[in-house]
Amino acid sequence: MGKISVAIPDLSGNEEKYVLEALRSTWISSTGSFVNRFEADFAKLCDTRSAVSVCNGTVALHLAMLALDVRPGDEVLIPSLTYIATANAVRYVGAEPVFVDVDPLTWCIDPKMLEASITPRTKGIIAVHLYGHPADMDAINHIAGVHGLWVVEDAAEAHFAKYRGRTVGSLAPLATFSFYGNKILTSGEGGALTLNDPHLELRIRTLRGQGMDPLRRYYFPVTGYNFRLTNIACAILCGQIERYKEIIGQRRRIFNLYHEYLDGIPGIGFQPVAPWAEPAPWLFSITVDAQEFGTYRDELMAKLAKADVETRPFFLSLHRLPPFRESSRRRGEELPVTDLLSNIGMNLPTYPGLENSKIEYIAGLIRSVYRKR
Ligand SMILES: *Cc1c(COP(=O)(O)O)cnc(C)c1O
Repeated sequence: MGKISVAIPDLSGNEEKYVLEALRSTWISSTGSFVNRFEADFAKLCDTRSAVSVCNGTVALHLAMLALDVRPGDEVLIPSLTYIATANAVRYVGAEPVFVDVDPLTWCIDPKMLEASITPRTKGIIAVHLYGHPADMDAINHIAGVHGLWVVEDAAEAHFAKYRGRTVGSLAPLATFSFYGNKILTSGEGGALTLNDPHLELRIRTLRGQGMDPLRRYYFPVTGYNFRLTNIACAILCGQIERYKEIIGQRRRIFNLYHEYLDGIPGIGFQPVAPWAEPAPWLFSITVDAQEFGTYRDELMAKLAKADVETRPFFLSLHRLPPFRESSRRRGEELPVTDLLSNIGMNLPTYPGLENSKIEYIAGLIRSVYRKR
């Protein structure tokens, strides 16, 4: 069967052609027609006025913190179950992430837990749409409104997911995306911010480009950064965007087959879907209840690895990791839903070219581990 990877980018459309066009045009830095085209197309698909490309998803979050003027001493509420980049971006500006447990019904930050974490230092909330599932944005935006907080969506894992019929990226004043190699759309490394406010856009574009005044070359009103994305990367993204429906359709096929083949195995659970959610099919997730399944998640992963099937454990509870476990406001606390999911959750191979026979094979392996318990 050969090794089955967790993720492989699908670059089978016009990606190669557009990269060659970019190379031959000599526009290989961060200006060029593919940058403009990608930003326009992506904004349209996210139902926002603008999109700003940046060199990765972590930088998109960092730039969001800078644009919102987050400072040392500020606190930002983030879910404890997310990729480390969400927390790192808060630290880059000297602020403190305050970890909030996730909702068992969405695996995203639990709106019911937000209020108890708000202090006079709290400035905002980063809502992560985890594993493709949108966070409960109306509830989050409501609490933010009551307490005068900003909201940012981290949509790195949820391109084009829908929340009550609206597209992620358009559900808060600012949203961030990643186009890393395992994400739904990819340029290898890449990221973007989506937004509607033209003033905020100007501030973001200025900070992204070394702080230069867009109307006055080499005049720098603020200290900025070089966070730009290349025209070559945007050429790849233009190829990806043309086929976004196909890419998502392929991933949905994989989700449906995993559901079908894994259904009824005692102890194997699926990602919940809220009634108002249309999740993006990112990496297929399961949970392993060792009592019922007879085998712990880590043992199941080891057995799959032996059969050359690559998997990923869920993210670890961030408040327990070295950069945060001593210093964070949540040190030593139990965040029960995050703590449980990070111990029992895992992602299975999910990429557009994954054949039905391989999905059946992977599911068969999981079923055989149950039988052999
Ligand atoms: C991938 C990811 C990021 C960071 O993106 P990079 O492009 O790898 O820097 C941020 N947040 C979440 C939730 C992610 O999954």
